[in-house]
Amino acid sequence: MKKLINGILEFRQKAGPEVRETFTRLALGQSPDCLFIACSDSRVVPNLFASTYPGDLFVLRNVGNLMPPSDTAGRSLGDESEASAVEFAVATLNVKDVVVCGHSECGAMKALLGGRDIDGAPNLSSWLRHGDGARARLEREETVGVGLAKHNQLSQLSVLEQIEHLRSYPLVQKAIAERGLRLHGWWFDIATAAVHHYEPDERRFVLIDETEGARYLAALDDRSPST
Ligand SMILES: [Zn+2]
Repeated sequence: MKKLINGILEFRQKAGPEVRETFTRLALGQSPDCLFIACSDSRVVPNLFASTYPGDLFVLRNVGNLMPPSDTAGRSLGDESEASAVEFAVATLNVKDVVVCGHSECGAMKALLGGRDIDGAPNLSSWLRHGDGARARLEREETVGVGLAKHNQLSQLSVLEQIEHLRSYPLVQKAIAERGLRLHGWWFDIATAAVHHYEPDERRFVLIDETEGARYLAALDDRSPST
């Protein structure tokens, strides 16, 4: 906690006019173009590894970067929290992209792999059920995450599973059909501080290095949202 309070004091001292101007402008409203869904894990810091700034990302973080699916009427089969973030980002902020970002050495994925019966944590045990589909897929998967430790492979499969859950929301389907909303699967490898993205053509997560980054950017231009 002391680190946080000292951090606030340091920020007050160091924040120059440029930073203050940014926040003065942002006080009038936000227009992020991306909804970023990540794990609560303290080692996953999207603002650092993706060099984002205040106002760039609308962020939803929870244990395991999970997204409960929807019923046909658009009501979450989990609680309302995650679905509310999606509704606000997609329908109100009109974000162009949604990223689901998993990561290596995820405690939630380890718990899921272990059967998600966590002593003294009934809510967490229940919450992790949104990863059951990925857990089931792990046994038969032949491409995605092959060669990784099981919990890391499960984490990559879960990213894909959560994207399918996102797709179950009628407003997401509508935004994809009407204005080209794009859904991305990312995976952050903590040990190498490297980000990978899911490449559907190759059916695997590919490291975003200079070459792949250029290719990824070009592919985005080909699939530009209409608004
Ligand atoms: Zn995690």
